Amino acid sequence: MVQTRSATKTTQSNDVENAKKCALPAPLEEDSSDDLADAPEGEDISYHPVKKRSKRAQGKGTQAKEVTRRPRQRGRLEMLPELNLDVLFQILGFLHPLDLLNLARTTTAFRQLLMRKSSAFIWKTARSQIGGFPDCPSDLSEPQYANLAFYPHCYGCGNTVPTIHWRLRLRYCPACRKAEIYSGFPSYHDGVLPLEYLKLYHKRHGDYFVDIKQRDSFLAEYNKLSKVQRDVFMTERRKLVSDIDKHAAKCEAWHQGIIVARKCELSDARAARAESILARLKGIGYGAEIDYFGLDQIAALRGDVFHSTKRLTDREWEHVGQKLEETMNDFRMRRMEMQLYNPRQRLLVKLYDDYVQKPALDGGAVDLLPSVADLAKCAAFDAVIKLPEVNGVEPDAFKPAFEQLPISVLQWRENVERQLASLVVVPIDPRQPSERLL
Ligand SMILES: [Zn+2]
Repeated sequence: MVQTRSATKTTQSNDVENAKKCALPAPLEEDSSDDLADAPEGEDISYHPVKKRSKRAQGKGTQAKEVTRRPRQRGRLEMLPELNLDVLFQILGFLHPLDLLNLARTTTAFRQLLMRKSSAFIWKTARSQIGGFPDCPSDLSEPQYANLAFYPHCYGCGNTVPTIHWRLRLRYCPACRKAEIYSGFPSYHDGVLPLEYLKLYHKRHGDYFVDIKQRDSFLAEYNKLSKVQRDVFMTERRKLVSDIDKHAAKCEAWHQGIIVARKCELSDARAARAESILARLKGIGYGAEIDYFGLDQIAALRGDVFHSTKRLTDREWEHVGQKLEETMNDFRMRRMEMQLYNPRQRLLVKLYDDYVQKPALDGGAVDLLPSVADLAKCAAFDAVIKLPEVNGVEPDAFKPAFEQLPISVLQWRENVERQLASLVVVPIDPRQPSERLL
């Protein structure tokens, strides 16, 4: 089964430096600064962070004094390099390769320890715990391989970027990709540089791209060689690039599995969160609205709450619960309109039609009748239409309202007359200004 892992957060400035340090400067050369430096086995790897902190703190005035006065806290990672090496290696072997990378970037001692060639087995042990992850290729060191596979930052600018160019052995964000890779290369050099097939400019058709730095490095090396040496060099390059291609294909398959698994994880997390939210909403009486509209309509309106993959906590519910209640009240109104009021209004239309067909009452007080829409707004009828859900509304329910119809009609007429009167503009008496002048 494949495993997934979230990116560890670091500052962007560190990201840039770290990405650059572990970037592959040339496809065939190991980074001497970050690669497995062959440090002596007996090298002192003890860590002295206090001295380093006090140096930095000297120029910072009061704040610096506070830092130097702070009592040293024991039991942190700083103590790890002082452990017995066998114990330390045992612990490090349980870490994820990304944790090893981050650890190697924390202190000089860890860097020296983890970048030794003799420490390669630690990386290998950590890597072997990741199901299906291909072995480290011959053209990369273990830290470089871990950096490529797990450090989610652009090799150019340090921004977070999920796309891995396995054949080019690097990650680029879209902006850096435009500047750092190139789609043209002389055909007679085919097979001597890793090529990545990308659809950058067309959705359907892609191109093969080379990394410009790798290309320049290759050409520089090629141009220095004699004709005989070039033949040997080119043969070696073709073999290497072929190996890279095969390894990259395995990595792409593994990575695709990771992506799919991650999507499933996120989908499951969202579903669990949605279930939790709906359970809470049902608990406070919105079950009918949930059944009527369904999760999709509610989640579409409140994506800010439903889209998250975090587990819903009581504390978060205190914040989002009130907003959701407002939304659910709107849904309740819509449901009541559609499920209750509209059928009752249709029933009133039928009853009113029957009423109108009957002969007029003596006295002619209701000769001029309102439309059914106005009738439904009259208090007596509106009260029946908006009876609570538990009260079923049958034709007899409107009987008292129809008995009060003459009164309702009079009130309606008075209301209409008031509205008409408010619309009438009384013209100004043209004599008034002259009279005023007199
Ligand atoms: Zn970038």
